[in-house]
Amino acid sequence: MSTRIDLAQALDTLGSARRVLLCTHVQPDGDAIGSLLAAGEWLRGIGKEVLTVCHDPVPQNLLSLPGWETVRKPHEAEGRQFDLGLSVDASDLARIGDAGRYFSACPVTMVIDHHTSNTLFGQHNYVDSLVAATGNLIIRLAEASGANITRTMAECLYAALSTDTGNFAFGQMDEEFFAQMSRLMRAGLDISAAARALHLTKAPEDVMLLGRALASLAFLKGGRLTRMVLRAEDFRQAGATPENADRIVNHGLNIRGVEVAFLATQEEAGVKVSLRALPPHDVSKVALELGGGGHMLAAGCTLRMPMDEALALVESRLSALLS
Ligand code: 5GP
Ligand code: MN
Repeated sequence: MSTRIDLAQALDTLGSARRVLLCTHVQPDGDAIGSLLAAGEWLRGIGKEVLTVCHDPVPQNLLSLPGWETVRKPHEAEGRQFDLGLSVDASDLARIGDAGRYFSACPVTMVIDHHTSNTLFGQHNYVDSLVAATGNLIIRLAEASGANITRTMAECLYAALSTDTGNFAFGQMDEEFFAQMSRLMRAGLDISAAARALHLTKAPEDVMLLGRALASLAFLKGGRLTRMVLRAEDFRQAGATPENADRIVNHGLNIRGVEVAFLATQEEAGVKVSLRALPPHDVSKVALELGGGGHMLAAGCTLRMPMDEALALVESRLSALLS
């Protein structure tokens, strides 16, 4: 049975567990790894034994986060006993990849997330789509438990909050959000250094791949929709991996007159589609229809079909959205 729970019930569920398997989504971003590491530090601090796992390695741009090396491969959970499986920032079971079988094997499962498309795949689901980042929910929980936000936690939580708001440019940034940010500052966060490491500094491959993506930019629907494409050849020429494509899609949206943008990247599993929109458009509906998910203004999916078919399919769905 799966139920929505509130903050107090989430703390109760955590309170009855000692050994916790903590996991997050595949191709993790700053909110995924930031929330994972901060929750791990908090739970260890209150006496729990925690194994933090992720299907994919921690991406290069997050290696400045303290404790990133504590993130293990899911198979390290093999043969171990847990009281609780806890997933952060993932909208559905498929999103946690290989961690899913170990999560599902736990006697109790709990989900902490902020995606509107969350399927409530835990037995207990603390899901609040009114917060900008899953990190906001970790701060709420840690503070409500009486724990101190350490400097390490603050650095990880800053990564969570700043990533999911495009470095404080969009998303649900309300008074609670900045009150929480202020408490991260009090905990010793060096925001300029962290912003440089996380948001300003790019790998050479990031910039080379961006160049190729921009060269592919096409304006559709009278300039209201843009498309960018990254094929295998682009990755080869840029010396890049799919990780380097992170956030490139935003360049297609942040152009005058554009309302919706998408980037299609050729990956091993298929064509990964990243969707972005300005209000009032809702691209999560399109992503859900195509087997993915996400938020109203930022969503995605992977299509198992040739690139040209994928482009035609996504273009027709997005054109309909704009009609
Ligand atoms: P991005 O385009 O940056 O990879 O993802 C944007 C948003 O869409 C993220 O919040 C992410 O969780 C969601 N998303 C991207 N791809 C998928 C997918 O294949 N399945 C689901 N459920 N969500 C996705
Ligand atoms: Mn998130």
